[in-house]
Amino acid sequence: MLNLILFGPPGSGKGTQAEYICQERQLLHIATGDLFREHIGKNSELGQLAQSYMDQGNLVPDDVTIAMVKDRLAQSENHKGVVFDGFPRTIPQTEALAELLASMDQKIMGVIYIKVSDGEIVSRLSGRLSCKECQTPFHKKYNSFQTCPYQKCEGEYLYQRVDDKAETIWARLNVYHQQTSPLINYYHNRNLLTEVPGEGDVTNIRDSVSAVIESLLTD
Ligand code: AMP
Repeated sequence: MLNLILFGPPGSGKGTQAEYICQERQLLHIATGDLFREHIGKNSELGQLAQSYMDQGNLVPDDVTIAMVKDRLAQSENHKGVVFDGFPRTIPQTEALAELLASMDQKIMGVIYIKVSDGEIVSRLSGRLSCKECQTPFHKKYNSFQTCPYQKCEGEYLYQRVDDKAETIWARLNVYHQQTSPLINYYHNRNLLTEVPGEGDVTNIRDSVSAVIESLLTD
């Protein structure tokens, strides 16, 4: 099983790269942010709980997040591995994921760290518009809506995520540096981490990510 983690700060392009990898290699995409937003859309109990943390730019508690991922994994079959996007984000989540995979005789094959500077993140997120229906991100200046990749709408569902407002972006970056960036050392020390530059042309980034995956497969 090709189980991968796409790691990086919010707005580093993990989701875009994950979509591509999953389509190309028949992998399951598990994006915890998207799962929480689906719950919010359905107004489920979990959605209401998650929203109170998300709107402030804080992390949803580990036990809730881990249970949701477990549930998602249990529902899925017929794939060749999983791309985790936005998960894990804390050391306890990292350990829970390792245990969960071990219980299925699996493990993480590699962690791809998409590195983007704070300044670039702020500029990307503050101009980001997302589709409420399919969650595809666009950018007011650099990548405005032209066509829906799923041919489902004409841009009528575009909105600015509450957590993409300027004051919340800094809170999220702070949380990333405090709680999530320690995972870089954690995975580096286990020889699982490869860094790719996340700024510049999206196809170059895609090529760098693909090259890392190829090298993992030939190791
Ligand atoms: P994202 O779409 O990945 O930027 O996530 C949006 C928000 O969802 C985050 O700011 C958190 O509030 C919440 N979230 C997503 N993934 C996690 C996670 N692994 N652990 C805790 N909270 C998460």
